[in-house]
Amino acid sequence: AALYGVPGWGADYFTVDESSGTLLVKPDGENGPALDLYQLTQSLQAQGVRAPMLFRFLPIVGHRIEKLNAAFRAALDRFEYQGAYRGVFPVKANHDKALIQAIVDYGEPYGFGLEVGSKAELVMVMSQLAGRPAGTNLVCNGYKDSEYMELVLHCRELGMNAMVVMEQYSELDMLLAAARRLGVRPSIGIRAKLTTRHNGHWGSTSGDKAKFGLRAREIVAVVNRLGEEGMLDCLNLLHFHVGSQITNIRMVKEVMREASFLYAELVQMGAAMSYIDCGGGLAVDYDGSFTDSAASMAYTLQHYANDVVSAVQEVCIQRSIAPPTIITESGRALASHHSVLVFDVLTTPECLEEKREEQEEVVESIEIRDDKPLTKQLRAAARSGKGTFLLMTFKEVFENITADASALREAFNDASYFKDEAVRAFKLGVLSLEERAQVDMMFDAACERIREVAREHDLPLPDALRPDAALPHTKMYHVNLSVFRSAVDSWAIQQLFPIVPIHRLGEEPTVPAMLADLTCDSDGKVDKFINPKGGEPLPALPLHPLRHGDKYFLALFLTGVYQEVMGSVHNMFGSLNTVVVGRQPGAPAGVGVEVHVAADEGTPAAMNGELPHGGPPEPWMQLGAVLLLHPCLPADSATTSSATSPSSCSLCSMAGVEADSG
Ligand code: PLP
Repeated sequence: AALYGVPGWGADYFTVDESSGTLLVKPDGENGPALDLYQLTQSLQAQGVRAPMLFRFLPIVGHRIEKLNAAFRAALDRFEYQGAYRGVFPVKANHDKALIQAIVDYGEPYGFGLEVGSKAELVMVMSQLAGRPAGTNLVCNGYKDSEYMELVLHCRELGMNAMVVMEQYSELDMLLAAARRLGVRPSIGIRAKLTTRHNGHWGSTSGDKAKFGLRAREIVAVVNRLGEEGMLDCLNLLHFHVGSQITNIRMVKEVMREASFLYAELVQMGAAMSYIDCGGGLAVDYDGSFTDSAASMAYTLQHYANDVVSAVQEVCIQRSIAPPTIITESGRALASHHSVLVFDVLTTPECLEEKREEQEEVVESIEIRDDKPLTKQLRAAARSGKGTFLLMTFKEVFENITADASALREAFNDASYFKDEAVRAFKLGVLSLEERAQVDMMFDAACERIREVAREHDLPLPDALRPDAALPHTKMYHVNLSVFRSAVDSWAIQQLFPIVPIHRLGEEPTVPAMLADLTCDSDGKVDKFINPKGGEPLPALPLHPLRHGDKYFLALFLTGVYQEVMGSVHNMFGSLNTVVVGRQPGAPAGVGVEVHVAADEGTPAAMNGELPHGGPPEPWMQLGAVLLLHPCLPADSATTSSATSPSSCSLCSMAGVEADSG
């Protein structure tokens, strides 16, 4: 578990069962029951749902919402803040229907709302929020036309607290015209371009040159115009967003100070302000190192909530104004953990093992006659041709692999040198292709031998041979996945996601590997991996040797935002089988988890094997099974008291649920 950094990035949801060596998921958080991801994958495979499959653990989203609200509740109490906190989820992060529905359901007790960044998103969420408690916040950002403005006003008529945020001065006329046409008073927000910038990849979202938002003079112009129209009571919200994945909390403090003073100024100019919307930016610890490296965060959720609340409170006291309702738009922090992509390795063990047999043959075939000193034999080999000479020198390398740390280092250096020599000799035309292949095999055999000796005598491996080091000998594992479809940020912006085998975790992973996907694009690979200690990413992932007849499954974690919505259909690879793990309506935490499977119509058979129905898939296939976590209840009810014992419950054993797991 530590090798892959699971205790760090796994947060409350992912852990390793040391006895079975499998990866466990805790949909209800740390203290909830655990699902064995490997067993679940296998039972789904047995039912015809083939990898790659995207698991959507909806209770994790519920848990994230609870944690976010608990942190803000604690901060409000600590600073005796008299206003409220109301989070919203930015739909752009992931507009999947099941996810949005879960967010709205789990968020209802907290008055949690949604944020949209386009007209299409607005139309989609209208159907989700209609019929929900009146006054649910709906923050409307993005480019707008007059139809967009009218839709926002209709949302107000439907009882939602829809607030339209001015991102450009020109939007104001459009809004005022729509409001006049429909006779509805709008609730207006202003998106400010703050001068504070953050340094990460998304830092350009902030600062003077930011794409969106109004500068100081435009903000004043909006206030004056609304004053002239007698509509200053409609100006209610200040919005800003300084960029995603803020890794350093100092940045939050600075930006909150600037924004809080701006808010206070708007109040003092006569606007009926009541909301300060701090946008997104709350980071996710992808490598679990708890540092301010790009893949991590050097602060806790509670730190973040404290800094947001205390900054607003300080300015409100200083300026004697009423504390606003604080809104945040966390996308990444809320939904990253909920989805897990499980995929299999397509490389067969034969390609790796056959080579080993051949390697041994080549080593055996080089004869060293005992009656002559090795140097003499080498000289003779040099006279007979470059290839024979190189093979002989490799033989010498073998002779020098003795149980001593420095001898191992030297042997490795020599082997690397002779391998490079072979390439040079080939380019000069003095080495045949067959001889070059033999040198390659000798190199691999030498590395293998060095590893064996190090293991047997408990000696340190040469740095370059450690399983997490990138080397010419790093193995390429071809995986049933498209990086462009499922982890596009790992290609586009070199984002790191944790990747871990979901079984065999009790065995030492001895193969340094990189992953090559199924697309015919050389960029379709993962060759940088999280470093659980923070800092530079690792160039190889330690994996297990492949075994005959055994599928080897890996999972890609923390992919719940931006990857699905930005993923492309490069090579026409469609969506994946999606497995939605949710709770039966009304069931308490840990009871009654349902599994649904959706197969996308565009999914080519090559990606998914045979589709579940053998024909065109239904949009949704309910597996008929209700996985009951604990206690075991009959599938048709989550409330009945006739419990089955876990050991006799086939559904529970399918999910790998232990009798005492709750
Ligand atoms: N709000 C706005 C306006 C955004 O542009 C974004 C994303 O960039 C977010 C919220 C979500 O940010 P994050 O996922 O970092 O929480």
